[in-house]
Amino acid sequence: MITKHIENERDRAAGILLGLACGDALGRPVEFESANSIASEYDKLTEMLGDGTHRKPPGTVTDDTELAVCIARSLIATEAFDPTDVAARFVEWYESGPFDAGMMTVDSLRRLKRGAAWDSAGRDVWESRPEGQNAGNGSLMRCAPYAIAFADSPETIIQVSRTSSAITHADPRCTYGCAVLNRTLAALLTGENDPLMEAIDAVDGDAPDELVDALEAVPDEIEPEELQSSGYVVHTLQSALYHGLTASSAREAIVDAVNMGRDTDTVGAVTGAVAGARFGADTLPDSWLGYLTVEEHMHTSGSDHREWVQQWYTDALDIALREMSEQLTELREAGRFEVAALSNQADGGL
Ligand SMILES: [Mg+2]
Repeated sequence: MITKHIENERDRAAGILLGLACGDALGRPVEFESANSIASEYDKLTEMLGDGTHRKPPGTVTDDTELAVCIARSLIATEAFDPTDVAARFVEWYESGPFDAGMMTVDSLRRLKRGAAWDSAGRDVWESRPEGQNAGNGSLMRCAPYAIAFADSPETIIQVSRTSSAITHADPRCTYGCAVLNRTLAALLTGENDPLMEAIDAVDGDAPDELVDALEAVPDEIEPEELQSSGYVVHTLQSALYHGLTASSAREAIVDAVNMGRDTDTVGAVTGAVAGARFGADTLPDSWLGYLTVEEHMHTSGSDHREWVQQWYTDALDIALREMSEQLTELREAGRFEVAALSNQADGGL
C-alpha cells in the first residue's frame, strides 16, 4: 500500500511538469488565434501540430516550459529557493535568444541584466505599467516546480511562490495567483480534500478581491463559456483551474483549455500542471509525449538558444522532465530544501 502511494505521488509530481509541457506544446501553434478560428480550421485541436504561430515542429515547447525548467534547475542545484540564482538563470535564458518571451518578463530581465537587484526589477516594471498591462500571466506559467519542492510546507509555498513571481511580476494578482496555484498543486500531490478551497482559504484576507472572487467561482458558479483566455493572470488561472479540476482526464482538460484560443500555450501549460497533478503523468497521451523530443526542439531556434536547451536535455524532453520531478521529490523527502532570506519588498511589502 505504502509503495503504491509513493508511486502515485511521484507520478503526480511528474504529471505537473509533463502536463505543463504538453499544454504548452499543444497550444503553441495556435497562440493568438480565437476559439472560432481554431474551430473553423481544426474542428477541435487535439494533436501536436507543426508550423502555425512561431513556425516550429510539432511538440516544440516555449517560454512557459523553459522558465519552469530554470526554476526546477535552480531548486535542484542550490537545494533552496534562492531568488538571486533563479533571476540569474532567467537572464541566462533570455540572453540565449528564445523565440517566445512575455513583455513584463523581458522588461524585468533587461533591468536585471543591467544590474538591478532581483527584488527591484519586477517591482519597477510593475509600477511603470498602466492598469490593464501590469498583471500578465508570465510568472504563473513557470511557477509549478515550487509545488513539488515544498509540497509538505503550505506556508513556505505561499511565501516562495509570491517572492519568485515578484522577480518579474510584482502585482499582487500575480504573486497571489502563483501562491494559489502552487498551494492547489501541492494539495493535489499530497491528496488533500478540496485542494482549491484550501488554497483560497490560505490567502484570503491578503490576496486581492478580484483574484479571490474569480477563483471562488470555480467550479460551480461559472459556466465554461464565461471563461476567458487572455494574458491576464486572473483569466488564465480561473480557466486553468476550471478545466484542470473539472475535466475527466488530463487530455480533456488540456484540449479544452487550448481550444479556448488566445493565450493558448499558457492556458494550456497551467491547465496541464493542474490536470497532471490530478491524473498523473502516466495518463498523458503517448501521441503527445512522443513529440517531446530533442530532435523537434533542436533545429527550431538560434544557435545560442539551442546550446541553452542542450544544457538541460539531450534526448527526450519527457525523460528530462520526469528526472527533474524525481529529483525535486527526493530532495524534498530528504528535507534538503532551504529558503534563503526573502525580501520584504516583493509586491510592496510581503
Ligand atoms: Mg509561451
